[in-house]
Amino acid sequence: MSELTLPAGDEITADWWAATVERRLLVQECRECGTVQHPPRALCTGCGHMDGLGWRDASGRGVVDSWTAVYRSPRPDAEVPYTIARVRLAEGPIVLTRLVGSDAEDWEIGAEVVLDWLPGSEGRALPVFRREA
Ligand code: ZN
Repeated sequence: MSELTLPAGDEITADWWAATVERRLLVQECRECGTVQHPPRALCTGCGHMDGLGWRDASGRGVVDSWTAVYRSPRPDAEVPYTIARVRLAEGPIVLTRLVGSDAEDWEIGAEVVLDWLPGSEGRALPVFRREA
C-alpha cells in the first residue's frame, strides 16, 4: 500500500501524531471534569480548562455513526471509491475517519468496527476502522 502524506503536527496535535508511530490512538481526557474529547484541542469542551487535559489510549472499538462513499477524491493520489465515516468511539468522542476492508457502499449505521491503520509519512499512520471480524 502506498504511503499517505499526513499533515504536520502542531503544538496541540504533535503528541497525538507521535503516538500513531506506535499505532496507539489517543483521546484527550480532562482531569478536572472527566470529559473525553477528540480531535485534540487546547481546552476542554466540558469545563473550559486549558491545563487539565491529558491523554489516554482509546480501546479501538467503535460504532459507525454515519458514512458516505467518495467517488471523486479531492486528492489526486487517493484511490476511489473509498468510505468516509463518523465513528463513535467506545470512549464517547466521534472520529472523522475512513472505513476499510469492505466495498465502499457496503456499510450501515450502527456497524461495530475496530481500529486499523493506514501507513503514512515519517512512520506515522492514519487511524481507520474495519468491520469487526
Ligand atoms: Zn474539563
